[in-house]
Formats: sequence, structure tokens, C-alpha cells
Amino acid sequence: MERIANYIAGELVEPAGSSYLESIEPATGKAHALAPDSDAGDVDSAVAAAAEAFPAWAATPAEERSKLLLRIAELIEQNLEALAQAESRDTGKPITLARRVDIPRAAANFRFFATAILHEKSELHATDHAALNYTLRRPRGVAGLISPWNLPLYLFTWKIAPALATGNTAVGKPSEVTPLTAFHLSKLCIEAGLPPGVLNIVHGRGGDAGAALVAHPKVTAISFTGGTKTGAAIAKAAAPKFKKLSLELGGKNPNIIFADADMDLAIAEAARAAFTNQGQICLCGSRILVERSAYERVVEGVAKAAKSLVIGDPMEDSTQHGALVSREHLEKVETAVELAREEGGTVIAGGERAPAPNERCAGGYFYRPTVVTGLGADCRTEREEIFGPVVTISSFENEDEAIARANDTVYGLASMVWTNDLRRAHRVAERIESGIVWINCWMLRDLRTPFGGVKKSGVGREGGEEALRFFTEPKNVCVKM
Ligand code: NAD
Repeated sequence: MERIANYIAGELVEPAGSSYLESIEPATGKAHALAPDSDAGDVDSAVAAAAEAFPAWAATPAEERSKLLLRIAELIEQNLEALAQAESRDTGKPITLARRVDIPRAAANFRFFATAILHEKSELHATDHAALNYTLRRPRGVAGLISPWNLPLYLFTWKIAPALATGNTAVGKPSEVTPLTAFHLSKLCIEAGLPPGVLNIVHGRGGDAGAALVAHPKVTAISFTGGTKTGAAIAKAAAPKFKKLSLELGGKNPNIIFADADMDLAIAEAARAAFTNQGQICLCGSRILVERSAYERVVEGVAKAAKSLVIGDPMEDSTQHGALVSREHLEKVETAVELAREEGGTVIAGGERAPAPNERCAGGYFYRPTVVTGLGADCRTEREEIFGPVVTISSFENEDEAIARANDTVYGLASMVWTNDLRRAHRVAERIESGIVWINCWMLRDLRTPFGGVKKSGVGREGGEEALRFFTEPKNVCVKM
């Protein structure tokens, strides 16, 4: 069984307490790796290494930092197949998805920020004829980066790349559920020649290693992606220490389909938005809202798409729908579907575990893509994040009702609108409460744009300028003329 190590001060090291957690392969239900169950002592060593490396890394010319990060991107690309296999084994996602999306995006994250820092500019404000004010942006110091299990390498590198590019050093804590790709990344950083201590990766549980990282006095900025409840706990721990905080949290994203939309495309994409990665993407469209006259067609189309997805061994190329990430998560999804039934919903596709696709996967966590109709706006199923392959479909009469229904949630991460009416598209986009609105598309991402949520989907933004600003402290220099 593969034994994962922490990455501290440029070395792969055992956790100080020699304690390990079994990492379970979701497709088989069997342990496939051992990951460090690190504690506050390990976090302390990692933070000390990062703090020691900070002055030299912050003083390293942007061009050199850029070259090193580009080298890491290159190595990720060269190791795409091995990383995709690790990602698929660790998460249960179809390997084709890992190959096409997760791993290329991890490389793109490094490329994007490695080149962005070569084009930095600073502002100057001339105060009448009295003074010139310019703004210097300095790295904040040691950043704490905490990521979830659903897109492990994609989201981890989305934090690591801007933190390092801007001259910070970092301690990252990947999800204990999916530690493999972060371990591979440690090895690639060593191969790339990243100076010791610039990036440190500590594996372990949220309540132990994660909480210790948030609480550490030398960690000045925390970038967190995960559940809303965890985000609240982190905000509470970080607030009295005045740490810079970015929280990317849960969602319950509406997918609004107007009757004038290109219906075949809207249906196909609504199904893709609901079930990609077994519905375990924070941006998944888990509530489909359809204009009354198109309702039956959409219900029929999405149910048909759900039933036709090929459920299989995630490691096989033909698989479109893999395993859920863990037994606990499978049980959570089952409970959510039971609740949907109790609330009066009709399950028109799925609603049960799927049989194992082969002998290897006999103990795996497979659940059918599930479509539920007939639920009122007040139901818990319509309001609470399930984060699994479950989508609800409801109808609306007019634009105002669609917007009211879309906004009737504590979350506000993403939304989708399908229409061919240009004016309506802009009107609705303006009124929906979410960090991103996709018009006639889903998951099209430009890394320059701000990314994040409103309401209980988080505070702060990642992506492009926003990330460069998050990881740097502005300083005003006022020069009397
Ligand atoms: P989670 O909140 O359970 O865990 C996320 C990370 O936080 C893990 O590394 C975990 O170990 C750590 N953690 C847990 N408790 C902690 C604590 N007290 N202090 C510090 N760290 C702690 O989330 P998850 O189950 O891994 O991921 C699923 C959730 O993530 C969903 O709610 C999903 O919507 C959300 N998510 C959001 C985005 C986004 O961009 N907004 C992206 C992906 C996932």
C-alpha cells in the first residue's frame, strides 16, 4: 500500500507521531494508501519552514518565481496520466474527467499565475500638485491553504499557484479523504527545484491539522474551500487573530430554462451540470427551474439523460458516472433522497444505489443519477446542499417567479440561464444573487474572472486580479512634491 508523506522544508517526511489514516478507494471500498494523520506539531514544523523560506522567496525576482512555477506546470503535464489515475483512484471520478479537466486545469493554474506576475502594474494617485501616492503590493507571509476532496488537485493548485507566484510561502492541507494527488505534487515540486520551505504540504484531519493551521500565529492569510459549516468554524477561529480570509463554500445552484431556449442543448447541459463528477462539484446545477410550457419536455429529457449515463469502474475509459467519494457521503445522499420522498417528491430516475459494475468494484459506493420532481420551494430538498447526483426539477410561470425561486436559498455560488432572448438574459443575470451567472453554458471558466459566492456560499473572491490582491498587502507611499 502506498505510504504518503508530508512535504516539509523540501523533504518528504513522516508525521512526527507516526500516525496514519487509511485512504479508501471509493470504487472498491478498500484501503489503497496510508496518509499522515498529522497534528499541531507537524503543522508547526511546516509553518516554521515556510516562515524561514519567506524572506528569500519574497525577494526572488518575479521572473525566477515564474520560471519555477512554469516548470511545475510542465511536470504536471508530463505526468498527466499518472496524476489522472491517482485522482480517479482517490475520488471515484471517471478517469476521462480527471484527464480532460482536473489535471490540465492544475497545470493551467500554475501557468496562469506564473505569467500573470510578469505583467504586474501599480497605481499612482497624484494629489493636486501636492503629492504623489503610489501603491506597493507586498506578499503577506505564510499562507494557509485548505482544500476539499471533490476536485483535489484542481482546487489545491488554484490556491498554491497565486500564493507562491506573489512571493508568499505556504502550508497546504489537502482533504484527508483524497491525499494522493497532493503527494504527487510534492514530488513534482522537489523535481522542479522549488526551494525548500516555499511550499509545505501537511496531510491530516480538518479538526487537527486543519484547525492548527488556521490557529497558527505565524499564518497571516487563510484561503479555504469546503463546506459552509466548516467555513463558519474557520471564520470564528480566524477573526480574533485578524487573519486575511477567503472562504469558498457550498451551493444550491439554480439552472433556469426558459421556453425559448435551444431546448436540446439546454436539456443536455442541464443533465451534465447536474451529474458531472457524480454531482460533486460546488458549481453543479442541482435545482432545475423550467418555464411551465417546456416542463414536460425537460423532465423527460433530463430523466432520459440520467438513465443513459454509463455507470462504471472509474478507471475505465467508457465510464461516465463513477463512485461517490465515501461511504459516509453515499449514506448522506441516500438520506437526502429519502427526505425528498417524505417531502412528497417523485423520483423519476435513480433513487437507489447502483450495482457494482465489476468484481473489482464489489465494495464501491455507486449511486444512480437521480431526478426528483414535484417538490415545493419550501422543502428542505430544494434548500439544502446534497452535493451528490441528485437534481430536482420544478416549473415557473414567469420571469419574476423564476428569479424569486432562484434566489430563495441561503446560497449564492453559481446559476445558469437558458434563453435566446438577449435582453432577458442580461436582465435575469443582473437580478440573480450568485457569484457567477452562466448564460447558455455551464462550467466555461476564464481564469482572469473573479470567482466565488455570495450569501452563505462564501466571502472573498479567487481568480485573476482577485487572487493576486488577496495574497498581497497594499502599502500606500505618499511623496510630498
Ligand atoms: P469540508 O468543509 O468538510 O472540508 C474541507 C477541508 O477543510 C478539508 O481539507 C478538511 O480537512 C478541512 N477542515 C475540516 N474542518 C476543519 C477545521 N475545523 N479547521 C480547518 N480545516 C478544516 O468540505 P468537503 O466535504 O471536503 O467538501 C465539500 C464541500 O466543499 C461542499 O459543501 C462543496 O460545496 C464545497 N466546495 C466549494 C467550492 C467553492 O469553490 N465554493 C468548491 C468545491 C467544494
